[in-house]
Amino acid sequence: MADQTQPQTTATGWRTAHEHSILPAIGRPQLLLDHGRGAHVWDSDGKEYIDLLAGIAVNALGHAHPDYVAAVSHQVATLAQISNYFASEPQIHLATRILEHAKAPEGSAVYFANSGSEANETALKMSRRVAGGTRTKVIAVEGSFHGRTMGSLALTSNPKYREPFTPGVPGVVFVPFGDIAALEAEIDDTTAAMFIEPIQGEGGVRNHPQGYLTAARELTRAHGALLVLDEVQTGMGRCGAWFAHQHPLIGEGVVPDIMTLAKGLGGGLPIGATVTFGSEVTNLLVPGQHGSTYSGNPVVTAAGNAVFDVFERDGLVGRAEAVGQEFADALAKVDGVVAVSGAGLLRAFEVADLDSHDVVDAALATGYITNAVTPSKVRLAPPLIIDDADLMAFVDDLPGILAAAQKSAPTPTEA
Ligand SMILES: *Cc1c(COP(=O)(O)O)cnc(C)c1O
Repeated sequence: MADQTQPQTTATGWRTAHEHSILPAIGRPQLLLDHGRGAHVWDSDGKEYIDLLAGIAVNALGHAHPDYVAAVSHQVATLAQISNYFASEPQIHLATRILEHAKAPEGSAVYFANSGSEANETALKMSRRVAGGTRTKVIAVEGSFHGRTMGSLALTSNPKYREPFTPGVPGVVFVPFGDIAALEAEIDDTTAAMFIEPIQGEGGVRNHPQGYLTAARELTRAHGALLVLDEVQTGMGRCGAWFAHQHPLIGEGVVPDIMTLAKGLGGGLPIGATVTFGSEVTNLLVPGQHGSTYSGNPVVTAAGNAVFDVFERDGLVGRAEAVGQEFADALAKVDGVVAVSGAGLLRAFEVADLDSHDVVDAALATGYITNAVTPSKVRLAPPLIIDDADLMAFVDDLPGILAAAQKSAPTPTEA
């Protein structure tokens, strides 16, 4: 038998152990988390936090939701992995539910991936088959984030992520954010697809100007290009609609050709999905052209079904809209907050004359997990099951958090 090496998870030991075992590229974490329940997590010192990030907009049901635990435990104890040589009930059931809630027309279908990046890779592969494979131009928007694998990275605008890894996948051009005229100038009959996040997540929870998605839909249709909506972060109820493009203030009723999902879909287990709308898009890839060993295995799809079960039973999508609006209104009234963006329970607040990293550190010290999504914006994407009281506690504590962040920051204006 191999040695039973105990992990170094004491308050002092885990940082060194992390440094000696985990690739530095992912960054060094601030805390070692030990367990969670609902919207609360506890670190290795036993300190409790309200989790306003949910594993980056993933844990819609919070931590250790009893229905989720029961469904996943049952499935892992029944049938875990079978490959796509075989079908499973949870996989078919989840695909059917996604198509129903997406109001996808006859002939639509779901491909299950293992992450958001992979869901976008799949959409990019599909775009290479548009018009019999004669088009290679793909349009993405400045500020976009579509993932870190080579294909999805090519669609990600931030040069800091992309440029060290050239040559990347060719064909992608970026258009300025929110600029319909620029999109109109760029799109042509060599364009295979356009990728858009209904609200840019990593780009700072940025809402497109009203009418942008409608214009993108009309322009892609006119040029025979696919409209791919990346709903990896905005989908699964987070923005107050099942999928953000269905929200009247976000998508204005547009119907995409492809929608990609991940994050909230698995409620914590890794799953992505590429949803095609209509049989023409469904048949862009032919049998044998795509696949994955795990693609929608019984455990991750059972997890997705548990997420749907609780959402439907507890009305979590409507709740995200109502509670999210109250939360945003309350945040906007806090002194020092200059703007609040997003929709539902995907939000960011902007601070003036403060570094968002200092705000996040001060929030952590006060007992809240948040995220510095840009240097001036703090992202909040709590579990959709979070109590109103937890959200309002953060609003009440925010003036103190901003004051603490002010103190920790150098004041260059006075230097
Ligand atoms: C997180 C994210 C991705 C990448 O998903 P991974 O699961 O990290 O690969 C892609 N698109 C958007 C909009 C995201 O927020």
